[in-house]
Amino acid sequence: MDYTAKLDEAIQRLHDEGRYRTFIDIERKRGQFPHATWTRPDGTEQPVTVWCGNDYLGMGQHPAVLDAMKEAVDATGAGSGGTRNISGTTVYHKRLEAELADLHGKEGALVFSSAYIANDATLSTLPTLFPGLIIYSDELNHASMIEGIRRNGGAKRIFRHNDLDHLRELLAADDPEAPKLIAFESVYSMDGDFGPIKELCDIAEEFNALTYLDEVHAVGMYGPRGGGVAERDGLMGRVDIINGTLGKAFGVFGGYIAASAKMCDAVRSYAPGFIFTTSIPPAVAAGAAASIAFLKGEGGVKLREAHQTQAKILKTRLKGLGLPITDNGSHIVPLIVGDPKHTKLMSDMMLEHYGIYVQPVNFPTVPRGTERLRFTPSPVHGPNEMDHLIKALDALWSHCALNRAEMAG
Ligand SMILES: *Cc1c(COP(=O)(O)O)cnc(C)c1O
Repeated sequence: MDYTAKLDEAIQRLHDEGRYRTFIDIERKRGQFPHATWTRPDGTEQPVTVWCGNDYLGMGQHPAVLDAMKEAVDATGAGSGGTRNISGTTVYHKRLEAELADLHGKEGALVFSSAYIANDATLSTLPTLFPGLIIYSDELNHASMIEGIRRNGGAKRIFRHNDLDHLRELLAADDPEAPKLIAFESVYSMDGDFGPIKELCDIAEEFNALTYLDEVHAVGMYGPRGGGVAERDGLMGRVDIINGTLGKAFGVFGGYIAASAKMCDAVRSYAPGFIFTTSIPPAVAAGAAASIAFLKGEGGVKLREAHQTQAKILKTRLKGLGLPITDNGSHIVPLIVGDPKHTKLMSDMMLEHYGIYVQPVNFPTVPRGTERLRFTPSPVHGPNEMDHLIKALDALWSHCALNRAEMAG
């Protein structure tokens, strides 16, 4: 067996399908977000503005977060020194979980290495807790949920995206006595559209199913205290398990679930992805807790308002140029270019000529023909950055001779 040749083949396949991913090396400048330095493959550097980050509110440079992290490092050192089970549960982890339980109005919370791991570990463990469990999963659910559901060996049904009738049909076809769980998201990150949380909870109630909600693209950003869309809509109490990240709007790192004390106890006890891994560094836990606490308060309300305003301004200005954005009312602004070649070309030219970093999103992350640039405006993007972006897009759209919508008036 020629192992090297096999690796070449695997990589070549991606090149042939136009799916080979190139990572852009950047270093963000604390205190100057969204500005960063890009290091080209040849080692030369260029200043860039990041327009595709998930640090949605700029909390990654917030003094409250940085101070908490520095204090924890000074007090307790670098790593946790163990798994949660063996010497790795610290006062920082307990404090963070209490902060999260409070955020979501739940009895408990469990912190994992990431929201990916939280989804994967929880969903793959649930059939052990509920033998015969059937999971109903929205077709556009994140890879981490798909992976957890796939690995658990239990029964699964995929319902068409946000299609309540289809879900109902699938539920009605199964044994009424079987344990069931409906898994979905609040904000879907590629189109920026919302899941119908209330209606899904109604259906879950009707069929006596549990609900599992990924709020990764909403925690910190929606709701009076940043508890997510379920908080905004007064629905947190109806969702059995809420999943979130500490790495996006909270600006740090890690993931979690929030649920009843019993659910947390059972998942904690059975999920290998929770038990057999080193717990997150205390400084990371401290930073995340400080971020959550800050965003619960008045400062968070202001940031959330500024965030939504920025998204509205960007969408309005892009629409004004006749550029085909998808506006589903969230903070995510997808600009549909429509083919992989132009999407990549636009992204490359934005970076090289304008110092604007926006990653191209191609198949299979999105359907063919909907290849896009996905912008994530935030309160740290000022009017100058916005003007520069608009000018660049206007010029490049013409340069690539891409279609514009009819302009109003
Ligand atoms: C990013 C993402 C995750 C994973 O979160 P991490 O903390 O980065 O692992 C889970 N679900 C969705 C919908 C995401 O977009």
